[in-house]
Amino acid sequence: MAEPEDLPGSSGAGYLVFTPFSRAWRGHPLPAHVPAPSALSGPSLPSAGLERLPSGDPPLPAGPAAARARLVAFVRDGGADAYAERRDLMGEDATSHLSAYLRLGMCTPAQVGRALGVPGHLSPGREAFWRQLCWREFYHHHLARHPEVARTALRADLRAIEWDDDPAHLAAWTAGQTGYPIVDAGMRQLAETGWIHNRARMVVASFLVKDLLIDWRRGETVFMQGLVDGDPANNNGGWQWTAGTGTDAAPYFRIMSPIRQGQRFDPDGDYVRRFVPELRDVPTARLHEPWTMSAEEQRGAGCRIGSDYPAPRVDHRERRELALDRYRRSREAAG
Ligand SMILES: Cc1cc2nc3c(=O)[nH]c(=O)nc-3n(C[C@H](O)[C@H](O)[C@H](O)COP(=O)(O)OP(=O)(O)OC[C@H]3O[C@@H](n4cnc5c(N)ncnc54)[C@H](O)[C@@H]3O)c2cc1C
Repeated sequence: MAEPEDLPGSSGAGYLVFTPFSRAWRGHPLPAHVPAPSALSGPSLPSAGLERLPSGDPPLPAGPAAARARLVAFVRDGGADAYAERRDLMGEDATSHLSAYLRLGMCTPAQVGRALGVPGHLSPGREAFWRQLCWREFYHHHLARHPEVARTALRADLRAIEWDDDPAHLAAWTAGQTGYPIVDAGMRQLAETGWIHNRARMVVASFLVKDLLIDWRRGETVFMQGLVDGDPANNNGGWQWTAGTGTDAAPYFRIMSPIRQGQRFDPDGDYVRRFVPELRDVPTARLHEPWTMSAEEQRGAGCRIGSDYPAPRVDHRERRELALDRYRRSREAAG
């Protein structure tokens, strides 16, 4: 696809905002197809020491043929056409799962573009899918032009946020034991499968940064260690976007409610029930805030809050105010 020098932007320094980038990127022709070599020579690396997933299975079948088969099936079977409507529903398998293949070069954005069809004549679902691919390109161009974001916030006024260094909070978040079901489901999906749904990535990241007040770079590291698609550009972009510190980021004062996100994007609770089995029999109306169950309801659901499943680690409303205050102080300090 386009290299950073192909898209210099009007100032010559690239783009800090997604929409103009995406316009320029879409206008750039897809490169010609270059067939993969039949074999590559290189060192044979030992696999010893790599951790296996709890299931013992590889997370995905490897290789370009497997990547192509997944891409073709996603487009042919209607996944791409339905993408706009279903991509945010965490309990559904409605995204392409191409991320590890794209990360490892087994599939390229140009291949995806060719599979989707003629630009300008795509269904709304395919358009939405192509737009997400463009976020990948945006973050890759951004990291190439601003390598310092790998270590620090892009926004200078948000470099002095006071973070809590709380190992117990970090460990509970990593283990999926925060007491907020949608957060715990996301982190357990990471541990069990090496992948997390995009919406869940946003929710767990927001919770770490804005509820637990832990530096986004700690979460970025946990993700890089656990994701099969761990990608320095996309991961940094996603974390800085969520923290509100990066390029074209979510405004820092927009703080996701883990309860509301669960109710909207896992309305039947399928996602939570799959990854947090101790909540399986909790009524759907209570599933995203199980601590509101009466003692009798807890007995009925076979889930006592505080023993079978943790009570919420922090109070979302209180922490929201604290986070806003910390962000405000960093901005004031920066003048
Ligand atoms: C905090 C956070 C961390 C993330 N870390 C990574 C990471 O390490 N590696 C990674 O590949 N993606 C990352 N993402 C982006 C996104 O969550 C994944 O690309 C997506 O969930 C992968 O699943 P999929 O292939 O089914 O995606 P689909 O929805 O099918 O999208 C197709 C492809 O488009 C690209 N894409 C989609 N959404 C985004 C996005 N928001 N940003 C950048 N590229 C996107 C990916 O290459 C993806 O494979 C992160 C997002 C957040 C919020």
